[in-house]
Amino acid sequence: MNMTDEISKLIETKSNRYKQLSDQIWEYAEIRFEEFCSADLLCETLEIEGFAVERGIAGLETGFVGSYGNGGPVIALLGEYDALAGLSQRAGSETYQPILQNGNGHGCGHNLLGVGSIAAAIAIKDYLKEHDLKGTVQYFGCPAEESGYGKSFMAREGLFREVDLALSWHPSTVNAVMHVYSNAVIHAHFTFKGRSAHAAAAPHLGRSALDAVELMNVSVNYLREHMVDEARIHYAVTNTGGVAPNVVQAEAEVTYLIRAPKPEQVKKLYQRVVDCAKGATWMTETNVEVQIEGSCHNLIPNRTLEKIMQQHMEELGFPEITAEELGFAKAMYDSLTEEEKQGAKSSAGKELGKRLSEKPIVDFVAPYSGKLAFMGGSTDVADVSWNVPTAQCTTATWAFGTPFHTWQVVAQGKQSYAHKATLLAAKTLASTAISALLNPEIIERAKRELKERLDGEVYEALIPKELEPPIMSNR
Ligand SMILES: [Zn+2]
Repeated sequence: MNMTDEISKLIETKSNRYKQLSDQIWEYAEIRFEEFCSADLLCETLEIEGFAVERGIAGLETGFVGSYGNGGPVIALLGEYDALAGLSQRAGSETYQPILQNGNGHGCGHNLLGVGSIAAAIAIKDYLKEHDLKGTVQYFGCPAEESGYGKSFMAREGLFREVDLALSWHPSTVNAVMHVYSNAVIHAHFTFKGRSAHAAAAPHLGRSALDAVELMNVSVNYLREHMVDEARIHYAVTNTGGVAPNVVQAEAEVTYLIRAPKPEQVKKLYQRVVDCAKGATWMTETNVEVQIEGSCHNLIPNRTLEKIMQQHMEELGFPEITAEELGFAKAMYDSLTEEEKQGAKSSAGKELGKRLSEKPIVDFVAPYSGKLAFMGGSTDVADVSWNVPTAQCTTATWAFGTPFHTWQVVAQGKQSYAHKATLLAAKTLASTAISALLNPEIIERAKRELKERLDGEVYEALIPKELEPPIMSNR
């Protein structure tokens, strides 16, 4: 039996357990930094499989690492398991049906992500054991991918220093190896303080914090014209200072995500946004406090690893889909807006778009173009990728066209085709890892490539030294 078939078999033998695990994490639907039950479940699974588990890494209550094996090379699998607020939705429902109004839901498929990666880690362990091979596999339980930057805290503490290569994946609508770069980001809160007064009887005594928020936003909107093309700035007003127009708002807050392709660029852009906030305080005689919540680097792709990953994914191929599965995928596709459908069709191309709109599960592996794609958003996998050669893929866990962070993702979170695609990801990651373990020159080439891509730049976490991850167990 060749290696990929063997890996495939090792994973299929335990497929029922992986289905139960991901369904259970779907049920927990715990949001960033509060993934207590999900993390426990994954830690127990690793312990049962003979991994040594260390919890609470890098000050993260729901972060952990499970290790198996001895000596190098050290292969890291990255797992996530946080849900999203406000995305509660019944599994298997063809229409929007929240279980709990404003409840949480797995709107980014991290119930599948965390389990796919753990299935890969366990298969690598089983293979090492079976063949009496040297090497270590580590599963990093990474909390708070959704605006919490768990991996950035871990990278700041040097947790990936001993790792030789890192692998991960993400649920999606396509089967593809990722060759993308992302924006670095700084996430910061700006809290303005003024003085309240009766807005009609004594307006001259008031100093409005809400005015400061508005002026800051206006000035940042002017700033947009003078920044690099790929930079992005977006904000949400998180405290308007109250609901009474006749009270001058003494306190108000706005939260910003500031993104640019390089850490140095994002640091400078952040300073310019801080200057906008300061300008607003001079105009309004208010004060501002700035608090960084988290940040992450830009993603460094690794062609060496991606090509190996591509070979394995093609060799494995997409699993068979039943008529019943296709029926639900079709219902999901039909639930999309006309604009969403058009967007999906045009990104797939005319012919393919038409075929997929009729049979909306992507059942093939996309060819590896090697063309670097830009992702306007950010991911904390980036901080790992600055330290260790890192590769990622996606598999079609969701119907064609399904947008991320929607009720449709949550509705599909327990579908059998989502489970099947998760196992494809697990098999792809595990096979890639074993290829690298058996051929150490792959790791050397991947490391050389990372060094070339960094071109002398050294990783220094964007998260301020004094910033600690939040402690949620006592809240
Ligand atoms: Zn995600």
